Amino acid sequence: MRNVLVTGGSRGIGLAIARRLAGAGFDVVAVARRESEDLRAAIAEFSASSAGIHFRACDLSAVDAIPAFVKSVRDEFGPLYGLVNNAGIGTEGLLATMHNSEIEGLVRLNVLAPMILTKYVVRHMMAAGEGRIVNISSIIASTGYNGLSVYGATKAAANGFTRSLAREVGKVGITVNAIAPGFIATELTQSMDAEQQRRIAGRSALRRLPETDDVAAMVEYLMGEGGRNVTGTVLTVDAGNTA
Ligand code: NDP
Repeated sequence: MRNVLVTGGSRGIGLAIARRLAGAGFDVVAVARRESEDLRAAIAEFSASSAGIHFRACDLSAVDAIPAFVKSVRDEFGPLYGLVNNAGIGTEGLLATMHNSEIEGLVRLNVLAPMILTKYVVRHMMAAGEGRIVNISSIIASTGYNGLSVYGATKAAANGFTRSLAREVGKVGITVNAIAPGFIATELTQSMDAEQQRRIAGRSALRRLPETDDVAAMVEYLMGEGGRNVTGTVLTVDAGNTA
């Protein structure tokens, strides 16, 4: 059984990823601060199958707790084949008026946490001689967006991290990729009203918005046999918003 750790697996894109991977036969450890109703339902749904979804709580912003958390997951579930760095926040604000604590919070969860988590997980992958890492980025890293300068910078960091780490660990059989979704309706984007969503969809080649499962399908591909020679890339899932 291959284990995959999915951060932010309690709702939105992360929950869709957890469900997809469990459906594809992976044993998934979903991490978030709180177990949601939807995650509880997904855990129950897969409880009868050989692959399942498990929840383990961790506040990843408390980065000093990450090494012990990785150890506890490994001790309980065994080696991790995959890691999906999906947990993130999307705090909006004009830079000139943002609180320093908001800037720090974005960098802490979106940049520091995945880097430190990956550091501790990749050591085990290197010893095993295999592994798949997927970082959830955003098209905002390359397009820019009014009010998302810090968020956009954290996602540009994810892209840079992906490309160099792929070079660093490729020789031991580990792939590292990023997925850059366009706007997807989740709790993170709930401040966007229906009219704004219509406008974004109207600007996209396919005249629609991507959905959480579209990102999950890409993660499944990268974790599977088809993804074995794909590394160091940033794959866009945005219904052609940036085409
Ligand atoms: P949601 O807000 O729906 O979900 C975020 C997830 O992260 C939840 O499971 C949440 O659980 C978890 N999380 C938040 N803070 C922490 C923390 N401190 N420690 C551990 N887990 C935490 O977001 P989305 O599903 O929309 O986004 C997922 C990823 O996709 C993010 O990285 C986002 O930047 C990216 N993305 C999203 C897009 C969109 O349009 N939705 C577009 C492009 C990229 P809990 O609160 O219980 O901790």
